[in-house]
Amino acid sequence: MSLPFVVDEQDLEQQERTLAPSGEARLNGLVPLAWHLRQRDGKRAIGLAREARELMRQFELGETRARAVALRLALVEAEVSWGLADYEHAQRLVDDAILAAQASGDTAAAADARWIAASLASDLGDTVRRDESLQACEALAHRLGDVQRTLIARAAIARWAVFSDPMLARERWGDAFGDGSGPWPVGVATWVTDFLGNLAFSDGDNGPAILHRLRVHEDAVASGQWQRAVVALTNIGACFSNLNDHDSSLIWMQRGLDEARRLGWPMAVAGALIQLGGILQPLGRLDAAIELLQEARGMLVIAPKSRSLVIALHYLGEGLNLQGKHAEALEVLAELEMRANTLKQSDMLMEVRLARATAMAGLGRRAEALALAHDALASCREFKRRVVEIRVLMELARLYTTTPPGEPPADAEDHAAALACLREAVAISQSIEGYQISGDLYDALAQEHAHAGDHAVAYEVSRQAAKAREATVGTAALNRSIAMQIGFQTERTRADAELQRSLATTLQQTTATLEVLGAIGQEITRHLDEQAVFDILQAHVHDLLDATHFSVWALNAAGDTIELAFGIDEGQPMVPGRQIPMDREVSNVARCARTRQEILRQEAPEGYNPNHIPGTFRAASALYAPLVVGDSLLGVMSIQSPKAHVYGERERLIFRTLCAYGAIGLHNSRAYKLLGETLGELQLAQDELARKNALLEQAYLQQQEASFTDPLTQLRNRRFLMAHIEDEIALTLRRSERQQRQSPIEPTLDHDLVFYMLDIDFFKSVNDQYGHAAGDAVLVEMARRLHSVIRETDFLIRWGGEEFLLVARATHAGEGAVLAERLRGVVAEQQFDIGDGKSLAVTCSVGFASFPFHASEPRLANWSEVTRLADQALYVAKEGGRNRWAGVEATRAPRDRAHFEQICRDPRAAEAQGDVTLLRSQAE
Ligand code: GH3
Ligand code: MG
Ligand code: MG
Repeated sequence: MSLPFVVDEQDLEQQERTLAPSGEARLNGLVPLAWHLRQRDGKRAIGLAREARELMRQFELGETRARAVALRLALVEAEVSWGLADYEHAQRLVDDAILAAQASGDTAAAADARWIAASLASDLGDTVRRDESLQACEALAHRLGDVQRTLIARAAIARWAVFSDPMLARERWGDAFGDGSGPWPVGVATWVTDFLGNLAFSDGDNGPAILHRLRVHEDAVASGQWQRAVVALTNIGACFSNLNDHDSSLIWMQRGLDEARRLGWPMAVAGALIQLGGILQPLGRLDAAIELLQEARGMLVIAPKSRSLVIALHYLGEGLNLQGKHAEALEVLAELEMRANTLKQSDMLMEVRLARATAMAGLGRRAEALALAHDALASCREFKRRVVEIRVLMELARLYTTTPPGEPPADAEDHAAALACLREAVAISQSIEGYQISGDLYDALAQEHAHAGDHAVAYEVSRQAAKAREATVGTAALNRSIAMQIGFQTERTRADAELQRSLATTLQQTTATLEVLGAIGQEITRHLDEQAVFDILQAHVHDLLDATHFSVWALNAAGDTIELAFGIDEGQPMVPGRQIPMDREVSNVARCARTRQEILRQEAPEGYNPNHIPGTFRAASALYAPLVVGDSLLGVMSIQSPKAHVYGERERLIFRTLCAYGAIGLHNSRAYKLLGETLGELQLAQDELARKNALLEQAYLQQQEASFTDPLTQLRNRRFLMAHIEDEIALTLRRSERQQRQSPIEPTLDHDLVFYMLDIDFFKSVNDQYGHAAGDAVLVEMARRLHSVIRETDFLIRWGGEEFLLVARATHAGEGAVLAERLRGVVAEQQFDIGDGKSLAVTCSVGFASFPFHASEPRLANWSEVTRLADQALYVAKEGGRNRWAGVEATRAPRDRAHFEQICRDPRAAEAQGDVTLLRSQAE
């Protein structure tokens, strides 16, 4: 029988235990042990191999056996060298091993040599060779009838295939691997779940991908496939990052990095560093990201052709651009281009051109930047990389419209070109199924439309920008909740796994006990209600320990009382509910809870015992232990026996283990109850998660708040209006329509929104005479004054430079003039203080119109058209001599849309026709 490809920990332990101290028997034990330690502990594996070679010289092994042993030892050395990135040495050993295995007909060794060859090719970026080697490996293993090796090779082929064609991979291997649950020979689950994880990842199902990858990690650790285990950790980090849970992402990436460092594998370390750098960048931690990426780049001199290096250079180039270090970015990008060229990685070549364009633009070399961006565009089209194309088009539009300092601004032709790019970007985005168009793209488009004087379209597009933001924000929240749920599950898995591990070390000798305990653990963790947990514990406690009394006490929510939750005394159930105050001195249960320490009482059956519950038996031995999960105390568990000295060291260990199970079971059942109610309550159960979530939420709100606020005046900005006006309009329409139904003749209630457009008079001259800072001071004071005369609930928006939009809510349209006069007055009545002891007379003009435009036809005009009308009225006020107001009021309902549009275009003509009244302030 050939040596298994990998074995589990138990098997390995058995090998360690039975390793003979000397002689030929030792040699026979050393070979498999070295092989199975190759990834678990490379240093030791090499040491054992060396010892084996020495022993070989002392014994006559016979030629066939000697050759087989030497071959196996060479494979151990090859794989360890691969891990240490000593590629040349590893490659030589593998090449020799392939030939030797062929010559001697050692098919298992031949398959393993191909496997290592594939690992080498993969690190070195030679995908063709990797795939050929894996296929050869699978064929050899299959011929040998070795199920473990065959399945591992097959699943490895499948996991790589997902990257080049996920659909095809699913079609070919999906059925064979099912949901991954097996049962499989040892170590196979690692690769099968890796395949499933990659599939889920490529579908964008990050939650399921995390669960698969957790299994990859677990199985890889159990079967000593450490390289996979480390990759799984960073892959889990990448999934969390996609879910926007950057905290968790960093935690997993860091774990990956720590493991890689511990193992001393340069490629794994570099891979983890790159991934970490990649997520730090969008988080704005550029310095840290660049430091990590530089470190990774330094390490990757050993694998100059690897895709890892290409990715590192790409992130590095982008990071340097973001830092404004464009010259440095160009150097990195030049290297990237050279490497991507030799590797024929078309995706990277586009990225290079795009990033180089950004760098050139940053250096003021606009013409070259444009040429590069056009180049990038052409190759995106050639390779049909539509997602990259969108980014290239957006960058092109930016390049067209921004000119370096000192050069003339972009002209009409530039703006037209930019507009065309953005339109195309939108068209492409819309053609990709499931693609979320970014708010930034719409914003850029709105800006260009506004620049072209096409304000109506600009309004419409900015509205879409707001909607797009909302949509992406919605997805972010969804992602966050998925991440929370998974965090919850992974924490549980981790707690279970840790418990299993500590059990395994403390109770190694008593395997039988272990088995029972293991079964109890599994049984308990399967059950999610308290009663079941108690029943299981109760049923098993007697198998393992001498106890006539078993009780579980639960701490109440306030933490001041402990209450009997479950108890059996001499076969009789105890009535639950008995309460003990936590501070009761004489109570062992309370003391155990208070101190969180185990208490063992051994006492004589007779004698006074203040704890004794009348009517129950007198215990000679009693054991109390706290039920603790993490930092929180859930309660106390106790066993008692009338026999003296029955709880020795071993019994206490077992009892502690049962308590640990009980605590986890209780904890789970409580968490589960909460989970069943709402996600919000899950947060209560998982303090840690709740806190993290609150922080994220707060950060999000702050960011939202910042993006809604004009930094100079602290007023709301247009973006705020876009995000909120639709709700306001809907409410107004509902009220207005109800009013219409109820008493159409007398629509007097305060249901209208009045839109005021304000513009400071001759503001340019303030800047010209007193400087920009004085102008800014006027704007700030202006905001303060306007605020003082409006209601808290009104929207006051900084609309543009020195223009303000006020949306007065729930007002009666007929009273628009009153507020208009107040607004005008509060600005004109007192001089403005502009610093340096100077003051200045400032006035403004005001135009207004209300929504609905006419009560009988509330849906005829939308809010942006009403804004335009207010703007027209403002123009009337300006023309009338400034420091005054004007308002447009419908005198009758417009006949139709065309009629209304005509009114908008020329309110004065409409006044002459009798369609509207133009209200005007008294001349000052
Ligand atoms: P009127 O409205 O009465 O017709 O004359 P005006 O001088 O106010 O008109 P215009 O709209 O042409 O000028 C607006 C000026 O506002 C142009 C710009 O210099 C100035 N401005 C715009 N935004 C700011 C800003 O944030 N700070 C300062 N200080 N000035 C600004
Ligand atoms: Mg203006
Ligand atoms: Mg002005």
